Amino acid sequence: MLTFNFHSPEEELKAPLFQEKDIQVFIKRDDMIHPYISGNKWRKLKYSLQEAQSTGKSTLVTFGGAWSNHLLATAAAAAKFGFKSYGFVRGEAVDNAVLSLCKIFGMQLIFVDRTAYKDKELLFDRQFGRDNQAFFIDEGGFGPLAAKGVSELMDELENNYQHIFCACGTGTTLAGLLQGLTSNSTTQIHGIPVLKAGSFIYEEVKALGIDPEGVILHTEYHFGGYAKTKPELIDFVKEFSQNTGILIEPTYTGKLFYGVYDLIKQDYFKPKSKILLIHSGGLTGLLGMLDKF
Ligand SMILES: *Cc1c(COP(=O)(O)O)cnc(C)c1O
Repeated sequence: MLTFNFHSPEEELKAPLFQEKDIQVFIKRDDMIHPYISGNKWRKLKYSLQEAQSTGKSTLVTFGGAWSNHLLATAAAAAKFGFKSYGFVRGEAVDNAVLSLCKIFGMQLIFVDRTAYKDKELLFDRQFGRDNQAFFIDEGGFGPLAAKGVSELMDELENNYQHIFCACGTGTTLAGLLQGLTSNSTTQIHGIPVLKAGSFIYEEVKALGIDPEGVILHTEYHFGGYAKTKPELIDFVKEFSQNTGILIEPTYTGKLFYGVYDLIKQDYFKPKSKILLIHSGGLTGLLGMLDKF
């Protein structure tokens, strides 16, 4: 079994706003799972790595943009568990802090232009089709094995929540939370897409074989699109981190927390509600945005 002991506590956040609205807000600290195999990325990789190992594969091959948390998580996990790793990186060859970290963990980077990047199966087949040691992991870790890994988060919870929120990129994390709900649960699952036109997430959840019925997507907190920010979001990230001692970043968790705070201000939640926010990690994303602070 490929696993390690990690610590992801549920912490209650205190703020005058929550007191005023008579609600309780908790954070699931998945950012504490590992500094680089961070947050949802460990949960999403776990069963793929187990499958790679049990089928005798020695090499993980995956895909991501130049600041991808998933690439870095795969590189670090490969190093930790004794795999080689290759990362197809979208776009022209660049150097940046996250890609350097990938290289330090031994990942070999292959830059491909945006058109070629669209067909990941073809890229894999061309380069690794004859290599029976190579194991394909989709961009962002997307897939049913990843959702299964995330579903285990729900078993760890110590409190009963009326609402659980996560940020959505591919929708796999959201799908996993839904999968982990017990059948008689009254918990409402919410997603905050970090991309524009985020209702595509419903289709992605379906594609993972999970019924998205009942899930609520809040599609208005993307701030212009993936990795786009606005001064208001940057200010929020600073203020939140200063007030709580918990670091967040603008690409995922900043949008998630901003959205939930906004909903609280709008009296979206009934008094006495208990709300859980998943801190899905990804703090190395900050390294590409330091100039904004
Ligand atoms: C990758 C990532 C997400 C997106 O997760 P999906 O399962 O692709 O929706 C959310 N938060 C952080 C910090 C991430 O790195």
